Amino acid sequence: MCRPMNNNSGKLFHYRITVSPPTNFLTDRPTVIEYDDHEYLFEGFSLFSHTPLTNIPLCRVIRFNIDYTIHFIEEMTPENYCVKGLELFSSYLFKDILELYDWNLTGPEIDIDSPGCQKFHFMPRFVGSCLTEVKEVLSMHQVLLYLLRCNKPLVPEEEIADMLQWEGAGLAEIRGGVQGHDRHQPWHEAQLATRGDPQYQKLWKSYVKLRHLLANSPKVKQVDKQKLTQREEALQKIRQKNTMRREVTVELSSQGFWKTGIRSDVCQHAMMLPVLTHHIRYHQCLMHLDKLIGYVFKERCLLQLGMTHPSHHLNFGMNPDHARNSLSNCGIRQPKYGDRKVHHMYMRKKGINTLINIMSRLGQDDPSPSRINHNERLEFLGDAVVEFLTSVHLYYLFPNLEEGGLATYRTAIVQNQHLAMLAKKLELDRFMLYAHGPDLCRESDLRHAMANCFEALIGAVYLEGGLEEAKQLFGRLLFNGEDLRDVWLQYPPHPLQVQEPTTDRQLIETSPVLQKLTDFEDAIGVLFTHVRLLARAFTLRTVGFNHLTLGHNQRMEFLGDSIMQLVATEYLFIHFPDHHEGHLTLLRSSLVNNRTQAKVAEELGMQEFAITNDKTKRPVALRTKTLADLLESFIAALYIDKDLVYVHTFMNVCFFPRLKEFILNQDWNDPKSQLQQCCLTLRTEGKEPDIPLYKTLQTVGPSHARTYTVAVYFKGERIGCGKGPSIQQAEMGAAMDALEKYNFPQMAHQKRFIERKYRQELREMRRERERLEKESDETDDSRK
Ligand SMILES: [Zn+2]
Repeated sequence: MCRPMNNNSGKLFHYRITVSPPTNFLTDRPTVIEYDDHEYLFEGFSLFSHTPLTNIPLCRVIRFNIDYTIHFIEEMTPENYCVKGLELFSSYLFKDILELYDWNLTGPEIDIDSPGCQKFHFMPRFVGSCLTEVKEVLSMHQVLLYLLRCNKPLVPEEEIADMLQWEGAGLAEIRGGVQGHDRHQPWHEAQLATRGDPQYQKLWKSYVKLRHLLANSPKVKQVDKQKLTQREEALQKIRQKNTMRREVTVELSSQGFWKTGIRSDVCQHAMMLPVLTHHIRYHQCLMHLDKLIGYVFKERCLLQLGMTHPSHHLNFGMNPDHARNSLSNCGIRQPKYGDRKVHHMYMRKKGINTLINIMSRLGQDDPSPSRINHNERLEFLGDAVVEFLTSVHLYYLFPNLEEGGLATYRTAIVQNQHLAMLAKKLELDRFMLYAHGPDLCRESDLRHAMANCFEALIGAVYLEGGLEEAKQLFGRLLFNGEDLRDVWLQYPPHPLQVQEPTTDRQLIETSPVLQKLTDFEDAIGVLFTHVRLLARAFTLRTVGFNHLTLGHNQRMEFLGDSIMQLVATEYLFIHFPDHHEGHLTLLRSSLVNNRTQAKVAEELGMQEFAITNDKTKRPVALRTKTLADLLESFIAALYIDKDLVYVHTFMNVCFFPRLKEFILNQDWNDPKSQLQQCCLTLRTEGKEPDIPLYKTLQTVGPSHARTYTVAVYFKGERIGCGKGPSIQQAEMGAAMDALEKYNFPQMAHQKRFIERKYRQELREMRRERERLEKESDETDDSRK
């Protein structure tokens, strides 16, 4: 506890607080104290803390549509104050004038270090304007004397006679320097008054809805444009009506109104303090979370991001209505506003145009940090980490369990309900930042948010601490008992590795199968320590148990899928910082799907190495799914024999370069989803949106070789038709047909957008494709 009549230097840590940019904080008419023939200008506050503010990132907040950063800079402690003086000032400014009654700065009662003292003390900084090098801060004593001097009735009785002679100029003198001491004046800004009007609200809603609809429709009809203008005008009318009402002059008694000498600049700065202290205290709490998770984040913002639910917005650090009242009553009269878009510039994720816009962005080689400030992206990453960890441990721990069994166990572990339990162990509900609105009121919703938060946390640990930290944390949380935890964390090597602990390459000499595989090793430039792992990866399901590979590749395919998901997820997370999790998912599924995997497998000539039951040794055409499985199990073999770094390199070479083409071709979306979107953009206001409907027209052929014919209808009209070996494939074909034949303005718009943005890249891509086609034609010719 501080000694009241002392400055307690040596006990308190001193920080100068500044706000950048200075817009709305540097005012034309700052609070000035004259003392000793010098003017001392208010420049902001100093904060004294009982504990050092280490490891606390800068505080960012959006106000007046401007993105502010609050800095706190450690400086030499000034000595010209006593703590009692600071307390008197704080109680006058924060309680009596700004009425921040619910801003509580006392710590929990168990805080034995400083009972009775607030966590922070504040001092206004009035700085001398003289040109000496060191800025001189006016003593607290002089500040308090100034406040006492200024404290007199707004209209002193003896001046009334004088004042009756005043003209306009005299009135302006009072403006800005007045703080009402009559509580809760019902003065509202014109805007606020209008917004409360239900008729206005209803009209505003319909206006915004129509505006959004038109913004997202590629072709705007004249009728709709007129409608929008009409609504805009109607809104304007209501606003004007309200303005008229406001122009009415009201006579108010000046009785009970006092001058304070404090101008709006002080209030502007003061209203940043709850935000800052809130931020500091939250980060001090997060240090407790460090202990619970057993990992200390270096990047404190990353931990905060992981804890930030999308519903959370840091506004005022306290009851927002209350803070807003104080700001509009005592803050500056006409703040400068920034661009309204700042609130959702990087937040918007819905709507077809946003989708096209974001999905048209290519990956960044040198990525900038993401500007999306909630945890959904981290959750996307963490989800892949959790699934990867679970798959790996189960794979090694149960070497005889079929892939179906592994999948069942994995589902039990990674399902939301279970992750929510793990989150509860970490008490994440106490650290999560979320809006305490109706959304998360229900227990089930909160638990869901907690599970997501848990994944985001794992994602953050993985990002900063690496796989090992994430693995240890997840293991610790899964099992309370040390025995089980050790079993989970220290899994045995692969059975093929157990049989020949150092290497099995000596077997190559006697095995034609392994000999052949060395050709593949040469082709990809990787030498396996256990080449039988590679053989296992190439062993198709139809091959039964054998002593060379101890089984087929389906378990490996299960593992390989999770590995690819993780590596792709991490790559996308880093290189596409402006993509929301939904957009990342679209990109990921364009990479990790049967079609792309099979293509890569084919390009690497994997089909030639497939180990089958076929004794004729003739190369057989493999189904897409089989090829994709080959690739996934190869990835697993690569991981088991080497490590994740090898998989990263492999995917860097064989997968990620394809992203550019997917993006330029707008190939990240399957035809069905694309058709759905196109149809949605054609909806009319006030009606249920029309969606494409699929109908199976014909099924022919025996059960193992059936062909389905499917047609797709839109607004009662048949717009496309497709055939395929499954209903799904036939639907895809029908959708593709419709997209080509039906004139969707959306498709044309999307194509034009990409064409305009990437003229050069598209030209290069097409030239490259022509070159490749020509080359392959030539090789075909030479073969003949
Ligand atoms: Zn103190």
